[in-house]
Amino acid sequence: MGKLAKWLRMMGYDTLFFNGPDDSNMIATALTERRVILTRDAEIMKRRVVTSGKLKAIHIKSERPEQQIRQVVKTLNLDHDFIPFTLCLECNQPLVMRTKEEVRDRVPPYVFQTQREYVECPVCHRIYWKGTHWQAMVKTIKEFVES
Ligand SMILES: [Zn+2]
Repeated sequence: MGKLAKWLRMMGYDTLFFNGPDDSNMIATALTERRVILTRDAEIMKRRVVTSGKLKAIHIKSERPEQQIRQVVKTLNLDHDFIPFTLCLECNQPLVMRTKEEVRDRVPPYVFQTQREYVECPVCHRIYWKGTHWQAMVKTIKEFVES
């Protein structure tokens, strides 16, 4: 599920990741922030807050991230309004545009020479650029949403 969270962030969808046996914090957060719960745990689907329709939850069937993302995209109709690379994959924070000069000493020289567009996470200070890795991920997302 951690991988699914990253894929959703990559698509630009605000995604929180909860781990561990205690669901109460996740359920409370989902209710106050009006979030949809994506879970592998069938027990959550039986909770009154879910069966009553107060809280929307999707039971993720597959263990494989590719199948999981397909299920989420299909169920929530996420296939046309995604904006890749707007959120940090690690922190879920909106990324900030950076000029080439601003990142000069912070990216590998090869990257600096070949890339023009950069974004930075204001929390963990990771820098992202639209290199081959980015292009491969966008291609994969398109395959997810189109199939
Ligand atoms: Zn970050």
